[in-house]
Amino acid sequence: MRILVTNDDGIYSPGILALARAAQRFGDVRVVAPDVEQSSMGQAITSTRPLSYRATKLDGIEAYRVNGTPADCVALGAHNWEQVDAVLSGINLGPNLGNSTWHSGTLAAAKQAALLGLRGIALSTPAGSSEPDFDRIEPYVLRILECLLRHPELPLVNVNIPRDPKGLRWTRQAVRFYDGAVVPGEDPMGRKHFWLTVRPTEGAEEGTDLWAVREGFVSLTPLRLDLTDHAELTRVVREIPLD
Ligand code: MN
Repeated sequence: MRILVTNDDGIYSPGILALARAAQRFGDVRVVAPDVEQSSMGQAITSTRPLSYRATKLDGIEAYRVNGTPADCVALGAHNWEQVDAVLSGINLGPNLGNSTWHSGTLAAAKQAALLGLRGIALSTPAGSSEPDFDRIEPYVLRILECLLRHPELPLVNVNIPRDPKGLRWTRQAVRFYDGAVVPGEDPMGRKHFWLTVRPTEGAEEGTDLWAVREGFVSLTPLRLDLTDHAELTRVVREIPLD
């Protein structure tokens, strides 16, 4: 099995090394990742300049760094390595839950894989002031990969691993709250500026990704690229006739 590993934290993040090492138990691994952090870049691709694809060292694992976005890395990675079976993205330093997934570069890499007809799996874990303990969550990472890689009918899955997991749960995306916030401030010259940041949200419905991680469970959310609101489509076709 050919496994392409990428992320949005940059190729030298400890999270991608932990993921690549775990992935080696399941097949041939190649890392193709951004040369610098690309968090919150979503699924942007670079179309106004050429991209570089440079071999680098990553603890003995074949690796290439790209001066582009996570989606660029998946596009180049799949172009330069035929017959990739799965794309793994992460392990992100920080969760990708609920509506925050719209901005996620980690999840976007997995979505780019799905767009190319490949399987995409995004993995994230909370990061506070200290780095996540990747040795501690490794048994869960292996269990997740074993479960998901064995089920090729799942094209796109968003996985979030709490600090100290107590089990695995299938979940749906939490869509009730959005944690994005604009925080005004001042630079050292006294000029006004703004931080786009996140604020903690209260409450999470049972069965959602947010709920699972708060309860200490690994959250696995099957996703699809089709954003069509099928229920609304059926309704408007019936109730709002067009031409
Ligand atoms: Mn990130």
